[in-house]
Amino acid sequence: MDAGTWSPRTRETADARAPCPGCSSRTGRLRFRRFGYRIVECCACGLVYCDHMPPTRALVELYSDGYFTGRPDLRGYHDYRADEGVIKASFLDKLDRLTGAAPRVGRLLDIGCALGYFMEIAAGRGWDAYGLEISGFAAGMARRRGLRVVQGCSPAVFRPGTFDAVTMWDVIEHLPDPLASLREIHRVLRPDGVLGLCTGRIDAPLARVLGRWSRIFNPPQHLVFFSRRTLAQVLAAAGFRMWQVWADRKIVSLRYLVHLCLSLYGPRPLAAALRAVLRTPINPAIPLWIPDNMVVLATKT
Ligand SMILES: [Zn+2]
Repeated sequence: MDAGTWSPRTRETADARAPCPGCSSRTGRLRFRRFGYRIVECCACGLVYCDHMPPTRALVELYSDGYFTGRPDLRGYHDYRADEGVIKASFLDKLDRLTGAAPRVGRLLDIGCALGYFMEIAAGRGWDAYGLEISGFAAGMARRRGLRVVQGCSPAVFRPGTFDAVTMWDVIEHLPDPLASLREIHRVLRPDGVLGLCTGRIDAPLARVLGRWSRIFNPPQHLVFFSRRTLAQVLAAAGFRMWQVWADRKIVSLRYLVHLCLSLYGPRPLAAALRAVLRTPINPAIPLWIPDNMVVLATKT
């Protein structure tokens, strides 16, 4: 199935009502719809999620080359390769804090590694970096850069206690079963290992004000939507303790921001002007404080 067949009509008629990915309850209360998907809040544990979870094969097709090269309906990146410099710069603070918190600079697994930019800067600091990536396009590109990347989304292929650190930067919200993934991560982490992740935060004031229009609610790319409390709950259920939390900072290209606005909010009076920006050579790097994205370090309990 081509990712383009995820039309609003097929989404609306899909009858699969997935259980809560945090506690398996089916007592979800509809909060709203976004892009034709139902966004529900679990009445048992409070986790907010999309109650139609796409099968893995659909996700593999969703994260095709177009996701990384500006296909608007896939609501991904304008040009992931061209933004290598700003994406790597955005990772530096996270790498510093993770490295400072880890028991040793040893073996690291980056889940959802895309083209391997975080792996490359981590290797530059002495980490022995491995990657896991569901996108065949991205995994192939990363391997051509000489990186050790396995195509997939579960670390089940690795032996217990393999890694000193596991990272998932803006990835956990894309996973249909984040609890199962976290339990696998717990298995492959050494007892004193560190998990680093970042994800949208729906209890941040900005996300509360924007409601369904928040960029966090982007199904089927984003499937689970965390608050600080529900993320701590899911981490705890997988055997992790949320240790450090801070608001994310990133550097993004102007073209990425424009592409994000166009793909999330569709044609508007300003759309023609925004598209014109994409055709100009003007593309400054813009530092952003992102209070509705939380960065978390977690340890095993
Ligand atoms: Zn629940």
